[in-house]
Amino acid sequence: MADAVVVGSGPNGLAAAVILARAGLGVEVYEAADSIGGGCRTAEVTLPGFRHDLCAGAHPMAVASPFFQAFDLKAHGVEMLTPQVSYAHPLDGGRAGLAWRDLEQAADGLGRDGGAWRRLFDPLLRKWEDLVALIMSDMRHPPLDPTAMLRLDPGIELRVARRMVEQSTPLWDLRFREDIAPALLTGVAAHAIRPPRSIPGAGVSLLLGTLAHARGWPVPRGGSQAIVDAMADDLRRHGGRIITGHRVDSIDEFDSVRTVLLDLAPAELQRIAANRLPSRYAKALSRFQYGGAACKVDFALSGPVPWQARGCERAGTLHLIGSRAEAVAAEKAVAAGDHADNPFVLAIQPGVVDDTRAPAGQHTFYTYAHVPNGSTRDMTEAVTAQVERFAPGFRDLILATNVRTAATMPAHNANYIGGDISAGAMTLRQSIFRPVPRWNPYRTPLPGVYFCSSATPPGPGVHGMNGLHAAHHALHREFGISTDPLDLLSARP
Ligand SMILES: Cc1cc2nc3c(=O)[nH]c(=O)nc-3n(C[C@H](O)[C@H](O)[C@H](O)COP(=O)(O)OP(=O)(O)OC[C@H]3O[C@@H](n4cnc5c(N)ncnc54)[C@H](O)[C@@H]3O)c2cc1C
Repeated sequence: MADAVVVGSGPNGLAAAVILARAGLGVEVYEAADSIGGGCRTAEVTLPGFRHDLCAGAHPMAVASPFFQAFDLKAHGVEMLTPQVSYAHPLDGGRAGLAWRDLEQAADGLGRDGGAWRRLFDPLLRKWEDLVALIMSDMRHPPLDPTAMLRLDPGIELRVARRMVEQSTPLWDLRFREDIAPALLTGVAAHAIRPPRSIPGAGVSLLLGTLAHARGWPVPRGGSQAIVDAMADDLRRHGGRIITGHRVDSIDEFDSVRTVLLDLAPAELQRIAANRLPSRYAKALSRFQYGGAACKVDFALSGPVPWQARGCERAGTLHLIGSRAEAVAAEKAVAAGDHADNPFVLAIQPGVVDDTRAPAGQHTFYTYAHVPNGSTRDMTEAVTAQVERFAPGFRDLILATNVRTAATMPAHNANYIGGDISAGAMTLRQSIFRPVPRWNPYRTPLPGVYFCSSATPPGPGVHGMNGLHAAHHALHREFGISTDPLDLLSARP
């Protein structure tokens, strides 16, 4: 009998499992799908030889998070390939904002707004590790020096707070004089699938925007699957077992296990433990909101995308929407439950740095469009038109497509309710109080049962930090082990 069970093999489930196994516990992971990895899987879904990332495709957080820095993907054989341009934002007329990895180069390309871009990011870049520690904390125990606020050189908290206020209020245009830099920044804020001029939008744009210049937005050679495969290998080396094709339908299955960590959305806990949850907690879980969604469209292409604007061909990720105002309108529509006439499209072209994703000379092209929760609309044509707007001739390169609508997303992964890829809307409240307002958001009222999914702080993304925080609590509380999980990870097998 295992000491600990993890339900779900997404990056957070595996992060928790790796830590528990490295602490010496017997660990079993139960996964509903036939393959491991949750939102970090890669598969041939268009044509043979074309390997597509089914969910996460770009990994600024996987190279920066404390979990992965300690785990050390490189030492586990994962090669992270970093495009010269972290993200690009084409505009009509063949122009584009380019977030070069090098901050100076990015600023130089932004005309009269170059200085404003530099002043926005340079102070954060100098302390990017503090920024990551702050935003990827459990939002309860700030990991930073509390005296920083009192020192002459203000801590990262003040720098972030000032910029958050600016980028979430009508002040957000003040520092800019032209249209490219604000559009470039808004494209990153839109990752939250929230109105970009909001505190969560500002937080996302400052974190991911800083990482673009710190570590870049890399893609793993061979696809995102490489990350979770490395974690699974580590788990097995430490005695753990993974059972795929096993959907857990009742938590009673694990009555005799000392601790159970759930890499699940709150709705899934309600489904598998409905009869056992105290009514107050069940009520709080049912107030948890699921947010804007994604319709994923993958393309197999006969050649690289013919971007009109120079520099886009070097970008790993592109935000396809147009101006800041267009991005705001698109996200507002989605938040109101409508389809935008001009939808926000996030695109990734891994072939810029990774020639293993498709047969020689050919390319995979990853996209998703933001849509309202539960949308049944096939966005293939809308996405194609949006790409064509900035890359005339794109349509002629399409060999095959594969679409996953928001409504069909839960069949692929039960955590993505209505196609919400964040496993819970990133509202201000839910950025901190995920999944319920509690001091310890990972613990549930069921003895020994913890949440470890992206429905807990610090929220979505492939960074492993939700799993790390949950495992830390479970080790301490259930087994009296207070070793720092980062020390467990850093110890080589
Ligand atoms: C389309 C899309 C694009 C994304 N792009 C990016 C990106 O570029 N970069 C990035 O960092 N992040 C991205 N994300 C977000 C990222 O994938 C998630 O935040 C991350 O995978 C969350 O990890 P997790 O371990 O919490 O949960 P998940 O990865 O969702 O894993 C949960 C696992 O639990 C399993 N499960 C659910 N219910 C049960 C059950 N009852 N029994 C057994 N198993 C169960 C599921 O099958 C799944 O494998 C994207 C997500 C999507 C969907």
